[in-house]
Amino acid sequence: MTPDNIVNTKTDLFDKCFSFTRADEVKAAGLYPYFQPISSAPGNEVTINGKKVIMIGSNNYLGLTDDPRVKEAAAEAAREYGSGCTGSRYLNGTLDLHVQLEEELAKFFKREAALVFSTGFQSNLGTISCLVGRNDVLVIDRSDHASIVDGCRLSFGKTLKFGHNDMDDYEHVLKNLTNNGHKGGILTVVDGVFSMEGDIINLPKLVEVSKRYGARVMVDDAHSVGVLGKGGRGTPEHFDLIDQVDIQMGTFSKSFASIGGFIVADAKIINFVKHFSRELIFSASLPPSATAAVLKALEIIRTEPERREQLWKNTRKMHEGFRSLGYDIGETQTPIVPVLVGEDLDTFKFWKALLDNGVFTNPIISPAVAPGMALLRTSYTATHTDEHLDRVLDVFATIGRKLKII
Ligand code: PMP
Repeated sequence: MTPDNIVNTKTDLFDKCFSFTRADEVKAAGLYPYFQPISSAPGNEVTINGKKVIMIGSNNYLGLTDDPRVKEAAAEAAREYGSGCTGSRYLNGTLDLHVQLEEELAKFFKREAALVFSTGFQSNLGTISCLVGRNDVLVIDRSDHASIVDGCRLSFGKTLKFGHNDMDDYEHVLKNLTNNGHKGGILTVVDGVFSMEGDIINLPKLVEVSKRYGARVMVDDAHSVGVLGKGGRGTPEHFDLIDQVDIQMGTFSKSFASIGGFIVADAKIINFVKHFSRELIFSASLPPSATAAVLKALEIIRTEPERREQLWKNTRKMHEGFRSLGYDIGETQTPIVPVLVGEDLDTFKFWKALLDNGVFTNPIISPAVAPGMALLRTSYTATHTDEHLDRVLDVFATIGRKLKII
C-alpha cells in the first residue's frame, strides 16, 4: 500500500521483496530445503516432520551437543546464574564464568590472552573492523567466510583478495602493495579450514610470505578447533606454527557444542580489541548456560583425545566411501565433505531424495559457491556409528545412480 500524500518516487524500497519469487517457486515444486524445523536434540539422528533422519549436515564435530555432561553444565549454570546477562561484557555483562573461560582458552591455545564474543560472526566483525584503520590494508582469500568479508566491509581499510589457497597469487598481491608504496599496516585473514570446501590453508607458506612483507596474520579456525592438531588446537598446532599466527579466532558453535566465539593473541592486542570493538562493547554477552557448556566442552576436548581420533577415522571412511562411489568431493582434507552436483535444481532434487530416504544434508548454492558449482555439504562427527555411515553411503549410492549424478 502506498500512502497518497507523499511525493511519488520511481522505485519503492520494497519492490525487490515483492518481485522475489524464487523461494516460493522452489517451495511450490516441493523442493525448498531451508529453515527445516528439527524437533529433537541436534545429535546424529534428528526428528523432522515426525520422521527420524541421520544428520550429516551439522558442525557438531565431536558429538558434544547431546553429551549429558555438557547439558548438565549448561542447566546448572542457568539455575545458578539465571537465563541471560542483559548487558555487554564492557558494562554489566561480564560474569566470573566469562573470565574463567578466557583464562582457560588462553592456556589451552598457549597464548597470552583470550577474548570471548557472543557469536563467531561477531568475533570476526569486531576484531577485524577495530584493528584495520584508514591507512591499512586487508588481504583475504577469495573463499573466506562471510563474517570475514563483512568485517572487512566494516573496517575503514581497503580489501584485496587472492585466489583460493593460491600462495603465488598471495605473494603477488603483497608485492604489488609494496611496489605501490603502501605505508600502512597489513592484516591477512584466512579460514584455517574452508567451511564449504573442507580444505586446509597452506599456513606454512602463508606465514613465510607474510613475514617477508610485514603482514600480520589472523586465522579463522571455526572448523578446526577440536578437530585439527594433536591436542585439537586447530590449524596453527596442525602445522606446528602456534607462535607464528598473530590472532587465532574460533567459534563455540561447532566442536564446542554451544554458541559464541573468541580470539586468542598477545595480551596487548586483546586489550586493544577489548576497548575498541563495537561488536563486543555494544552487544550483550554470552549467556551463562552457553558459557558453562563451552567450559565443559573444553575440558572434554582436553581430556578425551579419542573423540578426535574417532572423528578422523569416520572422516577417512567417508572420503574413501564417496570417492569409491565415483563422487567428486573436491580437495577436502577434513570432516567437511562437499559432494559436487552442479546446477541448483539438481542439488535440491538430490537433497529432497536423500531426506526422503532418511539422510539430512545441506544444499549449498551460489553465492556461497560459484554458479554451476552447487553442492551438498556433508560433515561428520566423532559419534557417528559405522551403521550411520554405511547407511549414508548406501543411500548416496542408490539415489546418486537414480538421479544420474554418479
Ligand atoms: N567463520 C567460519 C569459517 C564459519 O564457518 C562460521 C559459521 N559457519 C563463522 C565464522 C561464524 O560463526 P558462528 O556461527 O559461531 O557465528
